[in-house]
Amino acid sequence: MIRIKFLLSVLLFFAVNQLSAQSHVTTPGSFCKYAKNSLRNKNIYAEGHTICPACDKEDEKEATARKAENKRREDAKNAAIAAENLAKQRALDAEMKRKRDADKGVTELGLKMSPTKGSTGAPPPVEIDGMKAGYFYDDGQTDNQSVSYMIYYPNQSERNNQIYKLYSDINYFVLNGKKILDNDEFKYCIGVRRVPGQVGHNTANFPPGVGIAVLNKIVDDHVVSDLVDATGKRLFNNDNISTIVHFTDDWFILMEGKPFGLGGHPYYGYQFPAAKFYNYKTGETFDIPNAQPGSRSYVQISAAVNGSYMLARELRDASTYRAYIRIYGRDKSTVYFITNEGKLEWDEVNK
Ligand SMILES: [Zn+2]
Repeated sequence: MIRIKFLLSVLLFFAVNQLSAQSHVTTPGSFCKYAKNSLRNKNIYAEGHTICPACDKEDEKEATARKAENKRREDAKNAAIAAENLAKQRALDAEMKRKRDADKGVTELGLKMSPTKGSTGAPPPVEIDGMKAGYFYDDGQTDNQSVSYMIYYPNQSERNNQIYKLYSDINYFVLNGKKILDNDEFKYCIGVRRVPGQVGHNTANFPPGVGIAVLNKIVDDHVVSDLVDATGKRLFNNDNISTIVHFTDDWFILMEGKPFGLGGHPYYGYQFPAAKFYNYKTGETFDIPNAQPGSRSYVQISAAVNGSYMLARELRDASTYRAYIRIYGRDKSTVYFITNEGKLEWDEVNK
């Protein structure tokens, strides 16, 4: 038994030895990696030298294995990326759905409040974070009665958020305590102004159910503004309107075209190709007559509602009106008032 085992071992040894001896051509100076002065991997042409098929075979096998391993790693990497992208897309879809669902409740309440959709009169006495239900609030605290602040220019950067003194993404309205229309359709959203220490304060009675949006759209070198409802639907759909200022209560001032400013002291004002007053509740509009100095034609509006340079005698008794704005003419100015009764009236004053 031992003898047989020994014989088998000897046979096996010779067999293995024979195999390797046959395989590699270890002649000195050959292309075998086991050869003395091996030429393998020395950047030398094989022609005229002794080659080693065994080494070639091993290298080929190694290369195939390496290729397979690389492919396996590549496949694994691609699968991981695909899985990651799928997860991202699913998270995005879920987030969009969550936003839509959240908006839905807010939007429905907003639409119910909207006077154009048949509200029953006074909004219900609901307040969230000091903000009245149904009103579009402005996290940017934009002074919507300032013509200066309401003029936006093409390629203008983010607005300064006065709460945090930072430039940040505030292109949304806050309605019923929630952000709405938080997307890139609108570049700026301006609603009821939130004043620090006076949260929810709305002295100028900005109407419910509507907000001022500056679209992500440039037409004829000017931005496009519109009044929008809680679904983002544009009220005017008129791309000529570049600038909208809240006059007072249901009255707005709509300016068309590219703004030019300012005139010289004390007649500070911005010139627009055209402008009109608009009553959101009644739909009443009033075209402001253009000034015609020479061949030019424009409406020059003072820089802010209730903020023009005025002599006391040029103004009516403050107890009789809600707001005024001064429009500069060639020889005379016109002061437009919204009376306590909500009527648009005007006086001519010296320039
Ligand atoms: Zn070899």
